Amino acid sequence: MKNIISLIVFLLLSVSCLEAKPNIVILATGGTIAGSIDSELETTGYKAGVIGIETLIKAVPQIKDIAQVSGEQIANIDSSNMNDEIWLKLAKKINELLKKDVDGIVITHGTDTMEETAYFLNLTVKSNKPVVLVGAMRPATAMSADGPKNLYNAVALAANKNAKNKGVMIAMDDKILGARGAVKTHTLNVDAFTSPDFGNLGYIVDGRVFFYNTISKDHTTKTPFNISKLKTLPKVDILYTYSNDGSGVATKALFDNGTQGLVVAGSGAGSIHENQKEVLKDLMKKGLKVAVSTRVVAGSVAVSKDDQNLGFISAQNLNPQKARVLLMLALTKTHDSAKIQKYFEKY
Ligand code: ASP
Repeated sequence: MKNIISLIVFLLLSVSCLEAKPNIVILATGGTIAGSIDSELETTGYKAGVIGIETLIKAVPQIKDIAQVSGEQIANIDSSNMNDEIWLKLAKKINELLKKDVDGIVITHGTDTMEETAYFLNLTVKSNKPVVLVGAMRPATAMSADGPKNLYNAVALAANKNAKNKGVMIAMDDKILGARGAVKTHTLNVDAFTSPDFGNLGYIVDGRVFFYNTISKDHTTKTPFNISKLKTLPKVDILYTYSNDGSGVATKALFDNGTQGLVVAGSGAGSIHENQKEVLKDLMKKGLKVAVSTRVVAGSVAVSKDDQNLGFISAQNLNPQKARVLLMLALTKTHDSAKIQKYFEKY
């Protein structure tokens, strides 16, 4: 009897040892998480995007206990230099990997434009498996660098069974944020990201993942945007509103330079100087698409029915940099302002 029990215990232990850990691929793009400077005390003035992915993985050996990880270097840049080419490369790579036996993706990324990349992927990844962006506010060489813990958390999140169907997420400073809502709201603190209109999706505590919030907007497999054959994206720029901003010089110059769409970072609930508005109306008659967002951190814009009839598109509560991402993708599908408006309401 004793022998049988020992055999059963032995078999159960063997089976649990054999149970494969989730297969997570880390795609590296650079940023402060891969940043380096000579002094441990320096958290500014360092060079972002210099340390390779293998070194970042080796610095956190504990991630091997929770997942089978492999790394691939997609780019190694300061994310202020992020561009459409890397976005398309990243989205195509993720779509290819997630069709295979990969269970989740982690992307190491600079924090400056992380929210834009996250939202671009939220609209273009065609899988329900977890995709998590992670970065750091202090370079890898700093005293109390935040990168290693953030990377561990991101892998724990990507490997978590409950992290499917959440759209693209950001793991920073023990928080889980959804791609649509996440905004960088501090220039230097390690607690640099918040989600002013949505709140956090959840937290990661000692490697354990807790979700407290849901995603209400459509994302990933539910969007119509297919980048698989795209080599470039439509040119869309952002116009910032400020007092005495009536000349329209920048607006005309951008249009003459080939801009197909403009996002206006309006004041308040999307107000635009009346002179600037006249210039925009003229250019809209020549084909320019204009989405109205706001320079205010939280809340939705209010675009009147009359302005919508003229073709102004309400960016809802997307900030200007995210509204730009959606307008670019929308222009790959249609130039009909009413249809683009529907995209802004859905995604
Ligand atoms: N400038 C850096 C970057 O975005 C900042 C960071 O990663 O925190 O690449």
